[in-house]
Amino acid sequence: MSCLFCKIVERSIPADIVYENDHALAFRDIRPVAPTHALVIPKVHLACIHDATPEQTPLLGELFAAARAVAEKLGLGEKGYRLVVNNGDDGGQTVHHLHVHVLGGRGLSWPPG
Ligand code: 5GP
Ligand code: ZN
Repeated sequence: MSCLFCKIVERSIPADIVYENDHALAFRDIRPVAPTHALVIPKVHLACIHDATPEQTPLLGELFAAARAVAEKLGLGEKGYRLVVNNGDDGGQTVHHLHVHVLGGRGLSWPPG
């Protein structure tokens, strides 16, 4: 059985898709924590950044390039934005398909909680 985000890739559950290329898909987060909040995922299932193999390093590059493209498309390029990857329980990861949060549209505080 495929995971939640694999189902979004397969279009078996709906999402507000904002960007797609051969490697990555991006859609708006269902519970946004900033005025603009999108998730960028690899189209292939990879549970988390810590599970990435050396062979998947090019895919990780594709994911960050896609996150940059999403930020540009959503109008965040000029004022700035934040990319976040949560990993594992202490990292706050709740969906176990690697995703990059693209957050922007307001000033973001540091450090995170
Ligand atoms: P994490 O906590 O794993 O880094 O982030 C998972 C994110 O996925 C959360 O921000 C959550 O709101 C989002 N999310 C969970 N389920 C869905 C869903 O069905 N659709 C969309 N678009 N986002 C989801
Ligand atoms: Zn998956």
